[in-house]
Amino acid sequence: MIKPGIVYLVGAGPGDPELITVRGLKRLQQADVILYDRLVHPNLLDEAPSRAERIFVGKASNNHVMEQEDINRLMVEKASFGQKVVRLKGGDPFVFGRGSEEAAACAEAGIPCEVVPGITSALGVPANVGIPLTHRGVAGSFNVVTGHRKEGQDDKDWDGLSSVDTLVILMGIERLPLIVKSLIHHGRLLSTPVAIIERGTLPNQRVITGTLKDIVLLANLAQIQPPATIIVGDVVNITDAVAETPTADPSLFISLPA
Ligand code: SAH
Repeated sequence: MIKPGIVYLVGAGPGDPELITVRGLKRLQQADVILYDRLVHPNLLDEAPSRAERIFVGKASNNHVMEQEDINRLMVEKASFGQKVVRLKGGDPFVFGRGSEEAAACAEAGIPCEVVPGITSALGVPANVGIPLTHRGVAGSFNVVTGHRKEGQDDKDWDGLSSVDTLVILMGIERLPLIVKSLIHHGRLLSTPVAIIERGTLPNQRVITGTLKDIVLLANLAQIQPPATIIVGDVVNITDAVAETPTADPSLFISLPA
């Protein structure tokens, strides 16, 4: 009988390969098989032993290379042959990554599974451009939500979010106009600051800032594409105060005519 291997559910961090954790990197360096998503930086794959099998399992929104059940099956199968399987996922494996379903699939199959947390884009992307999610006297709470909602559910969901100080929206670019409309409908002021960070922490990162009133127009003009993180709230203005920090290079900020 073959001794079962193990699955490591590893968070790759928000984009820049340097933002993986030390433990994540160690697991990668010992991998026999890597199953990786689209948002994982290619340089991270170079960290694995050259003999390791590298399998792309896709996952752009609505454009899956492999169905979730097939990913689960493949992961379990590889581990049951005694291999060390690294399931490498963008950001944190348990934030909008279906990582918990993958952990459950391992448990069901009796395969040991270790979760290695990652810096989620929800936190790492704003921090990288100097936007704090909380700031004394400005914001004492934040909420991370997905912009992908089931049809007809939007109104109910956005209602509950109107009182949160800072909103971080992932997967929201395709539905930006609807999200903005819903937030205004539920009481957010038109003057509420908004930032959108495209390809955060990567060399070609772009940042646009505006308000609920003009952000849809600005995003259209700049042709913002996923992956992008949207931040709504007064903390977006704090960035001016910290723009001198090295990571918040002011030249990265794009100003567009309103
Ligand atoms: N598990 C991931 C999130 C997966 S959902 C995490 O913890 O980060 C994918 C969404 O994350 C994208 O649509 C986008 O909203 C956000 N995202 C991922 N990488 C990003 C990046 N480099 N810059 C901006 N947003 C990013």
